[in-house]
Formats: sequence, C-alpha cells, structure tokens
Amino acid sequence: MGFTVGMKIYTLDWYLKYNLDYVEAAKKLKEQGIGLVLAQSKYLPMADTAVKSEVPPELQERLDSYDDRLFRKALAEEGIEYWAACNMFFDPRVMEKHGNVSVDDLGRTAEVLDWYIGACPTCDGYVEDKIQAIEGAIEELRPDGVFLGFCRFPGFWEIWLPETLREGWREYCFCPRCLAQFQDATGVTTNSWGEQKPGQWIRQNAYEQWVDWKGSVIRDIIKRVKERANRIRPGTRIMLNSLPLDTTHFGQAAREVFGQDWRKLAEVVDVFEVMTYHQILKRPVEWIAGVGSEIKQVTNRTVLCTVQAKSMYLQGMHEGKGRQLSISPDEFGAALRSVKDAGLDGAVVFLWTDFLEQVLVNNDPRRIDMIRALTA
Ligand SMILES: [Zn+2]
Repeated sequence: MGFTVGMKIYTLDWYLKYNLDYVEAAKKLKEQGIGLVLAQSKYLPMADTAVKSEVPPELQERLDSYDDRLFRKALAEEGIEYWAACNMFFDPRVMEKHGNVSVDDLGRTAEVLDWYIGACPTCDGYVEDKIQAIEGAIEELRPDGVFLGFCRFPGFWEIWLPETLREGWREYCFCPRCLAQFQDATGVTTNSWGEQKPGQWIRQNAYEQWVDWKGSVIRDIIKRVKERANRIRPGTRIMLNSLPLDTTHFGQAAREVFGQDWRKLAEVVDVFEVMTYHQILKRPVEWIAGVGSEIKQVTNRTVLCTVQAKSMYLQGMHEGKGRQLSISPDEFGAALRSVKDAGLDGAVVFLWTDFLEQVLVNNDPRRIDMIRALTA
C-alpha cells in the first residue's frame, strides 16, 4: 500500500455552500489525491467542537435533501474509502440523557471548558446508546470502517502546552461508578483513602493499577463496538482518533491520564489516526512524524498522522498563549512530507471546507497540489 491521504469532512459546506453534487464531490476528492474520508453523517451527528458542525436554520431545507448514502456510494465509485465518524465521549445530548458527568481527582464535577465537556466512559447506558447509533449508521452506510473520536477518559489536552506542568492538569474519572468498577476489577478497596479524596489517594498509592484499569476500559469498549459493527457488516475496521502525547510531550500521559494504552489498543484498533496538531500544541514540525513513529513502533498497526493546514485555538481562552498565528503552504508541505519520509502509512488533513475555500474562492491550489504530489 502506498502513502494514503485522508480528509476530515465534518461539515456539509461542499454541499450546502459550494453546491457540489455527490458525484462532483467524489471526483474532486479523487483529483485532490484523497484516498479515504472521515465523514460526519446524519446517523452520527456531531456536536460543535472547535469546528462548527451544526447547521444554521436557513440551510435546513437544503440539508433535508441531503443523503449520506449517496455520498458514500459516489465515493466508493471513485475508490475512496468511507469511514463513518462517531464522537464517543463527547456528546452533550447523550451525556445529559444519562446524567453521565465525569468527576476529577479533586472530586469536582466536570464543567464546560471552551466547547468541551467529556463524558465518563463507564456508563453502560451511554455506551449502549452510542453503539446503537453506530449500528444504525452501518446498516445505512455500509462504511469501510468506523472512526472513533473522543474514545478515551476526559480531558482538554489541546491546552496542555509545553510550558505547563502535568501536575496542574486534572484527571478523570473518579465518579462513584468508576471507583466501584475499579474496586471490582482490582480489589483496591474503596475505604482505603480515609480523609483524602479518592482521586488523590489513588494517584499516590494505586496509580499503576488505576492506569491499567483505565486502559482496559477503553480497549473493551472498542472491542464491543468492533464486535457489534462486524455482526452487521463483517470486515468493518476501527480507526481510533489518538492523542499525540508521546514521550517528548508529557511522557506517558495518553495512557496514564486518558486511558489510551497503545499496547492494549493494538489488540482492537486497525488504524491509529494521531492528532499531531503541531501549531495547537506549539511543537515543531519535526515532532509530528516522531509521535507517529512511536505509536507505529509500539502497535505495528497502520498509523496516519493528522497534519494541520491552518492555525487554530487563537481566540477566547486561547488568546495570548503564544501559538503561531498561521501555517504557510510550505510549512504544511514540509509537515506532510515528513510523515511520508518517516515511512508512516499516511496522513490526514482537515477540513475539506478549508481546502475548498482555498481552491474555489481564493484560487490558491498550493496545499492541494502538495497532497497530490505526495500521493501521485
Ligand atoms: Zn466515571
């Protein structure tokens, strides 16, 4: 397999704003060198993140005419893989339905930070709702795979900048249900902590058992998703939206804090998509392929590094944090090339709406030309 470039399509701007039809859209992606898409669909609606995925009311009518199945079909005809994107533990609507709020190590209930609030992964009703939605999407779309976003313990890692201290970041989830499940799984008794908050006690006294348990929780959820998906469409693969916290950036935090244990995950994940957002995390371009290579080495699975094409997290609470204000086409090209030169399987770029704007509105095909050059 050659070097593949995937595109995140989290808005329907191509259809609503640029008025492309299904076949035109698929042909354009093919021309642009895209081998797979990670797509939002009506079957798995996404709440707004730093990307606005919800549609304003005036576009509702055109939206109603839209059919994800026809887009999927048009992509298949061009030989482009379709991965149905599902945000697992970031879904405020399902979170509210189940009252599924996470609790940090100091015993505080999670609150909304910027656009983010993470749900606790151990709520069975919540997980079941998400899996049923995925099953519905598989019935309708017959996707090549399911792309799982936010499949981890909560935390707003985009603000873990190099000058911050790991000790300052909160850890989740120490809700009563998580504590009870941890006790059942490990035998660490829930009355051990005395005057301390359970989270503080666990971090000091039973951290490795805690981390191991969290990694198993996340692996087992993905295993369940994969089994259920494969009952409907055998061969459905799983791609995991993976945290880019390697040994040079907060050590083992992906595993320890967020429960993404690459070794355990390699048992159930087919493709690791790594969020190597260098501008958001204030890391140099060279850092990108290093993270991907580390995950590749540990998992021996297909690894795709996501490369930012434009700067983000510059406003509101993110203002004045010293993030680079823009990413030049040359920098984007160098980042993409570094992933290929490192021998990784591919890259993912986002968002399609931004590339369409560059090409169709600004008449600037430079970034798209760089993708094409790498995949030709
Ligand atoms: Zn919990």
